[in-house]
Amino acid sequence: IKGQYGKHFAAYDDKLRGELLRQQAIIDGMETALSEGQFMLYLQPKYRIRDNKLVGAEALIRWNHPIWGFQLPAEFIPLFEKNGFIAKLDQFVWDKACSTLREWDEKGYLPISISVNVSRADIYNINIIEILMDTVRRHGLRPSRLHLEITESAYTEQPAQIIETITKLRELGFIIEMDDFGSGYSSLNMLNQMPLDILKLDMKFIQGETGKSVGQGILQTIVELARRMRLSVVAEGVETKEQLDRVAETGCDYVQGYYFAKPMPIQDLEALLKERRAA
Ligand code: C2E
Ligand code: CA
Ligand code: CA
Ligand code: CA
Repeated sequence: IKGQYGKHFAAYDDKLRGELLRQQAIIDGMETALSEGQFMLYLQPKYRIRDNKLVGAEALIRWNHPIWGFQLPAEFIPLFEKNGFIAKLDQFVWDKACSTLREWDEKGYLPISISVNVSRADIYNINIIEILMDTVRRHGLRPSRLHLEITESAYTEQPAQIIETITKLRELGFIIEMDDFGSGYSSLNMLNQMPLDILKLDMKFIQGETGKSVGQGILQTIVELARRMRLSVVAEGVETKEQLDRVAETGCDYVQGYYFAKPMPIQDLEALLKERRAA
């Protein structure tokens, strides 16, 4: 019996050790990765349902690691949220998003907006307003070109502080999107008190319960509620024509999802903008 337990613990230890080593390697490599350009911005197009028009994009980070290859955020973002590096990485993303918008403006493309993710560590930073204003100013952009995506769960921690911060950001012209709405924490009641422009529905509304009336009814109710509160609604994670039809039926405003386009390198989105200008 003792031997069996020993083996069990040994296997567990190995797994834990492997995970800790991986985490340590990520932490050891992050500063170099940033300075050597291993982090890349990908952009996922967002379309207006009414006329199929490309109106914006979400910035999503990728890590092109020299040894591990192409890494998705799930591999490193949670770690960076814990050790604080997320602030630096997000600053990089915001700057890159702004410089890209500026460059495209100068090339004469029809202006789009870029939505950036603002992690909870960023939004609770006491300097966040200055940091964001400084970022858009440095690139000569109006704040409204940058949409700030704040995940639903971040709202619930210190509602009073976050309401104050977001109210100021909105007064300055930033557009605020609540990300992952309906993923669990928020109550409908909270929506009422939140300064907000856009509701971004959690993927589970779109991907779960396909075609079932309960799912569709809830979706419909949320979109109607949003409309009454003068919020726009984005459906995320639309992968099929059926899902698009379901979402469109509710009167939802915008879609983002693999059915239209996956997150892509900046140049690929630029190609779409060129096409649109030509059209
Ligand atoms: P999120 O903000 O909810 O981003 C949406 C995620 O859904 C992205 O995953 C996107 O690639 C994926 N997605 C888009 N359309 C579809 C679809 O049709 N089907 C499916 N199954 N997935 C779809 P990604 O890029 O792996 O990012 C994961 C999460 O990592 C993001 O979730 C966000 O919370 C975080 N993240 C990504 N980039 C950044 C960043 O620059 N800063 C911060 N703070 N967080 C980031
Ligand atoms: Ca997001
Ligand atoms: Ca999220
Ligand atoms: Ca989301």
